[in-house]
Amino acid sequence: MREKYLLHCPGCGRPFPDRYTLDCPSGCDALLRTVYAERRLVLRDLPGIFRYIEWLPVEGHLRIDAGPVSYGSVALARELGLSHLTVTFSGYWPERGGRMETCSFKELEAQPTLLRLREKGAGVIQVSSAGNTARAFCQVSGLTGAPVVVVVPASAADRLWTTVPSPNVCLITVDGDYSDSIGFGREVCSIPGVVPEGGAKNVARRDGMGTVMLDAALFSGRLPDSYFQAVGSGTGAIAAWEAAERLIADGRFGSRLPELHLSQNLPFVPMVRAWEAGRREIVAEDMPDAEVSIARVSAGVLTNRHPPWGVRDGVYDALVASGGRMYAVSNDDARSAGRLFADTEEIDLDPAAAVAVASLVRAAEEGLVSPEEHILLNVTGGGYERAAEDLDRYPVEPYLRVRADEAFEGDLRDAVRAWIAEQGVAIRA
Ligand SMILES: *Cc1c(COP(=O)(O)O)cnc(C)c1O
Ligand SMILES: [Zn+2]
Repeated sequence: MREKYLLHCPGCGRPFPDRYTLDCPSGCDALLRTVYAERRLVLRDLPGIFRYIEWLPVEGHLRIDAGPVSYGSVALARELGLSHLTVTFSGYWPERGGRMETCSFKELEAQPTLLRLREKGAGVIQVSSAGNTARAFCQVSGLTGAPVVVVVPASAADRLWTTVPSPNVCLITVDGDYSDSIGFGREVCSIPGVVPEGGAKNVARRDGMGTVMLDAALFSGRLPDSYFQAVGSGTGAIAAWEAAERLIADGRFGSRLPELHLSQNLPFVPMVRAWEAGRREIVAEDMPDAEVSIARVSAGVLTNRHPPWGVRDGVYDALVASGGRMYAVSNDDARSAGRLFADTEEIDLDPAAAVAVASLVRAAEEGLVSPEEHILLNVTGGGYERAAEDLDRYPVEPYLRVRADEAFEGDLRDAVRAWIAEQGVAIRA
């Protein structure tokens, strides 16, 4: 294999070169994987996540120093009676080297995704998420000049801010709900050269998030026995599984997959329900009163209605392969876990990260993990309070405002095309 990496389809077994490919060319319902020529974890002297560039689907790197940081917990570990608790933190925490200024691990995805897109000449990326994902993509756009089209419900626009100006973001707000903006985003991708970010299907997003497992394993010199994370799409959990498999193949970090302990926020817990029913499919009864339930969770980023659950090598397969389990966490438990973390480790958490901490508290109390085992807690977001004190905050201003039922044609389409033409990116149509 001469290439740095190939894509591999677990459905048909075919390998092929990467052309910013999101789906198997033969149409398999499977998540493509990267297979790297370098079988050992080799570190490079580069900033942030690009330390792990050998296992990222990019050739070059960005000059952004925002990667995961791992440390051994003392106070929280003592509180929970655990002897080997590693925290891997993604967010803003300068004392520990945490420099993700939009405060979540979505920056781990945005960096390699935008770079891969640029290297493949695939065009301009379109993002429809309203929360941490969109903020991370806007931030990396601001830091690199990479153009990004973001479509969000008008009501969510105030959650979009960056800590540097982001003049290359085309923000479109849709007067409607989340699915209206996803639908509109899909329309925008009908312009040649505008490509969807692809969610879990995007290997750059997964391998970017996989650096959490790499960082933790390097820190402790071995794979953890158990891995705790709050999941919305489950992309981060799939990424952790894939990274662990690479580390096992490396040979120096152990030979057992970490058990995945994945948590969701009540009352919206579709993956927990499907798991408990032993189902590979998420069905309507796993999401009763979806809209009402979604409105009631404290961690909105965990409310994905279409996670890559049953797809081959998706979340379900990751749980089965690792002998994992799932947790449903109430808002109250998440809040008190967030307080416990702030008191013991001295940083504020994203509500989703607090859900993961709550699942760890429960696992420790109920003996679902043993006091001696090596545990990795993926703190997927935090440091908002610190960031608000230290950093500038630039709201992302809308370029276009559209009605929910507005067709993407005529002036509207022309306006987006004009914006893209101004970006001067080479587009391979
Ligand atoms: C997105 C997000 C999650 C969930 O990650 P998935 O990969 O969607 O499962 C957890 N915590 C935070 C802070 C997030 O932003
Ligand atoms: Zn295939």
